[in-house]
Amino acid sequence: MKFIGSKNIRRAFREKFLLPIVVMSAILFTNSNNNFLISNSFADNFSVKCEYTTRSGKRIIVDDYNQVPRIYRGEARCIKVDNSELVSASNIDLKRQEANDVVNTSLGKVNLKLSKNIKSLLVKNPQRVISNSMNTVSRIINQEGFSEKLSNMNQEWNIVFMGENIPNNQVPSYLITNCHPGWMVPPSDIYIATYRIYKGCSGEGERVDPEKELEHVLLHELGHAIEYKLLTARGSRDLKRSEGFATWFAMYASKYSPLLNSSELLSYYKNMAKIAIENSPKSFNFSGSVYDYARSSMYFYTIEQKQGVSGIVRLYDLMNMGESFLGSVADMLNTSEVKIESKLIW
Ligand SMILES: [Zn+2]
Repeated sequence: MKFIGSKNIRRAFREKFLLPIVVMSAILFTNSNNNFLISNSFADNFSVKCEYTTRSGKRIIVDDYNQVPRIYRGEARCIKVDNSELVSASNIDLKRQEANDVVNTSLGKVNLKLSKNIKSLLVKNPQRVISNSMNTVSRIINQEGFSEKLSNMNQEWNIVFMGENIPNNQVPSYLITNCHPGWMVPPSDIYIATYRIYKGCSGEGERVDPEKELEHVLLHELGHAIEYKLLTARGSRDLKRSEGFATWFAMYASKYSPLLNSSELLSYYKNMAKIAIENSPKSFNFSGSVYDYARSSMYFYTIEQKQGVSGIVRLYDLMNMGESFLGSVADMLNTSEVKIESKLIW
């Protein structure tokens, strides 16, 4: 047996569990109708992004070459992404376009940075939507069933609403060239690509109710902040888990949000999950499509339906003890990993 000195033990522990993982995630919209396609990024300091175009002309970005379907591998373009290029939300420089504000919410103080060129887009002021979403989340985490780990969610937040042009020397290029309307770096930085939320992916359409979309994106991003608190054993990178949680959380939180229609959102995701499961009942590779987001949210939805939110907390307790995500889901659903899909409620 190899002896590890106490310093090395501490280092090994830090490497296994405490490496600061930068989580970024986003919802990616298309500008056709009100359907949205969700994509994601989730990265350490360096990650890989691969892009390919399907036969039907849809551009897909995935996190790994192995996630590119074999038929598209020949023409897939992969780049190494340096996520350290992303400037913190509080330090992003919007040049002369910048306005600052502070919003006090029940989840803590929000330092807000706004591009002045988003003014013409706004119907309600974004401060109202922010405090609405934060107050909604605060109400939820104070409910019975949520862990005491969430009692310290009250913190200082930084949110930046970028204008039409996302500052290209401060944000990695893959976030500029795709349609992410928002992303987040835990524990408390949220970036909003305002034009994509208000005008759709191309920034040129018209969205019927953009405040609703903004609320949805904020609740999703706040879901990542909550997951960050629940998952204390860091070190794994699992999009099914992180995006599944954030998608479920936005769905769950919508019941408490005066801006969102919860049953509409639930049936939207259920429908997408149904299509995804029917199309590929036996295998599920997370490639960043709306179907993947919806499908992975159903693990959480099913556990919540059967055991309430305290079941979700227990799921994270299992993962914190070292169990894998799907292993923990299987345990919670009293089944084996290969049979999880047949137990899902959708
Ligand atoms: Zn996300």
